[in-house]
Amino acid sequence: MAIDLVPDLIVSDIHDVTPSLLLNNNIGGVMVDLDNTLACYNEREPGDDVIEWVRSIRESGIKVGIISNNKQERVEQFNAKLGLRFNVARANKPFKRVYVEVARKMGLAHDRIAVVGDQIFTDVLGGNNVGMFTIMIISKSRTWNSLLAMRRMLEMPFIKQYERRMKKTKK
Ligand SMILES: [Mg+2]
Repeated sequence: MAIDLVPDLIVSDIHDVTPSLLLNNNIGGVMVDLDNTLACYNEREPGDDVIEWVRSIRESGIKVGIISNNKQERVEQFNAKLGLRFNVARANKPFKRVYVEVARKMGLAHDRIAVVGDQIFTDVLGGNNVGMFTIMIISKSRTWNSLLAMRRMLEMPFIKQYERRMKKTKK
């Protein structure tokens, strides 16, 4: 399979991922990244806005799980106020295993699952690899550092490719 590093959709914030956007794309489950997607690295608990976002998605009948490469303790602590059941810590993104496993637990075909995250080389690559709908979040990275800047530089060609693709479909 060809490596596909271009997200299906780029949005600035998790709140742009609305129930109607997901339902319009026939999505029944969301695998959402934690760090720099739902929260900044130093946020141990979800903010009210994140709690509200999760509630609105679940209320529309869509399943939600946190899929993070971070530690079990981090995911559990963050999930305490959310009560999500499809979570995986140390997920080893972008490797396929966890995506396939969670899809099976959700009881959904891969093309009915959205992968939401801030990184092209883990979240987007992982989701694309297994035929899921990939959504990249670009604004949460408030804890900007040189490593992130370097990563974003490497991601830029694929973001540009996405923008070109978007322009074409709009014509
Ligand atoms: Mg992340």
